Amino acid sequence: MTERIEVDLAVAGGGACGVMTALRASENPDVVVAVFEKSTREGCNADVSSGSLAAGGTRLQREAGIEDSPQRHCDDIIGNSGDESLRDLVMALCEVAPRYVDWIGDVLGYPLEVGTDMPRKGMSVPRLHADPQRRGGGPLMSFLRAELARRDNVAFVDEAPVRRLLVEPDPDQPGQQRVVGFEAEQNGTLIEVRAGTTVVATDGFANNPELMARFASSLGTPFYGGVSTSTGDSIAWLEPLGAQWTHMEACLRHGQVTLGHGTRVNPALPWAGAVLVNSEGERFVDEQAHGYSGLAGRIQAQPGERALMVWDEQAMEETMTSEMMRESLTAGAISRAEDVADLARRTGIAQETLERSLQPIEGRRAQRGRLHHTWLTHGVLTTQGGALVDTQWRLVRADGSTVSGLRVGGGSAVGTAGPRSEGYSSGSGLMAAMGAGWIMGEQVAKGA
Ligand SMILES: Cc1cc2nc3c(=O)[nH]c(=O)nc-3n(C[C@H](O)[C@H](O)[C@H](O)COP(=O)(O)OP(=O)(O)OC[C@H]3O[C@@H](n4cnc5c(N)ncnc54)[C@H](O)[C@@H]3O)c2cc1C
Repeated sequence: MTERIEVDLAVAGGGACGVMTALRASENPDVVVAVFEKSTREGCNADVSSGSLAAGGTRLQREAGIEDSPQRHCDDIIGNSGDESLRDLVMALCEVAPRYVDWIGDVLGYPLEVGTDMPRKGMSVPRLHADPQRRGGGPLMSFLRAELARRDNVAFVDEAPVRRLLVEPDPDQPGQQRVVGFEAEQNGTLIEVRAGTTVVATDGFANNPELMARFASSLGTPFYGGVSTSTGDSIAWLEPLGAQWTHMEACLRHGQVTLGHGTRVNPALPWAGAVLVNSEGERFVDEQAHGYSGLAGRIQAQPGERALMVWDEQAMEETMTSEMMRESLTAGAISRAEDVADLARRTGIAQETLERSLQPIEGRRAQRGRLHHTWLTHGVLTTQGGALVDTQWRLVRADGSTVSGLRVGGGSAVGTAGPRSEGYSSGSGLMAAMGAGWIMGEQVAKGA
């Protein structure tokens, strides 16, 4: 049996990008929106994320005396990625980021502050925004979904995965296909959803071993820290339409995943003085020289693909605000040693090697007193490669034309990291998702 419905906007995926698209489009009460979500029970990556929203030029920054702008944000991202080819796309995201962060905080009323305690590689001023308790992305997504539920012109259909796109010959582009909706499935019933605009917002493919082997095999077999729903369903839908896969090897990796527990420690730890040594006790990296995504590759290259992170009480106090530290402590992933001799006993690393490695490098402070420590490994959180899109998130074919009726956002489209995982700038995953959603939704609301 097939049910049929017709809407103005059909969204595949109810995570960060899909929800923002629907919120923005439904600001126009005449626009009818349907979001089809695979499973909120399984969750989206935004739910399990830290919920850190990167934006340059927000009201909160201005009030905190932080001078920032979309241009500076964009320059920082390109500085990290080294990829000029996507500057227009990155700039378009940076331009809308302060608008939706202000909107979430000031208009919708979600509590946000600028994380001045969240230094990150290549971030020239504090620009991550999060709730004061650092509760992570779950409460933020619940809040945004609740806002969506209040809108009469939106249907959010859960436990209803999209199976395929509906396509037909495009009368305006002879020989090409256009998208006119999708087919979803709920409780064994097929639902044909026809729409003026169809948005694909089903995230990437990090939880699909075959696609990871096809596109990102150099990552080896990392810990996977994302949700089960990231199976790259959109790859099979977009490939026949002429998708140009871009920067597919790049991922949001994490080099601060606790070994055997799968929690993460606060990415600010290196800036608070934490030191990394490998299992032979050798300090193999300047901890501040890489973001957490870049650090993953350095840890992958160490014996046993692991490293010991060590930090003192002062660093602990400075970084305890993060939900990642609370989760790691609860999981029993962080241990404490009385001194270096005790650390050597607990880790099996020679004391004299540890003493040498824990010496501060130039410009850094010495570790003092009791030493907290955890074994870390590398993980993958999300993919960053995806379909090439233009600055309105339309799918671009090899000949430069775009597919009518379709927009592709969030982790289904190419991200901002550039060709390598090292290029990922903190806060860019949610920005690529929410920023694209804001832009796509606004276009639909305006009837563009
Ligand atoms: C542990 C972790 C921490 C992170 N922390 C941050 C952070 O602090 N800041 C930041 O900017 N980024 C962070 N990220 C990255 C960020 O979460 C993602 O980049 C972002 O959520 C991508 O948004 P999206 O809408 O594309 O995907 P998602 O938020 O994952 O949403 C995709 C949705 O599509 C649904 N879906 C999938 N297939 C189908 C289908 N066939 N039919 C219907 N629905 C489907 C999924 O169920 C899901 O609900 C983190 C990621 C992880 C895993």
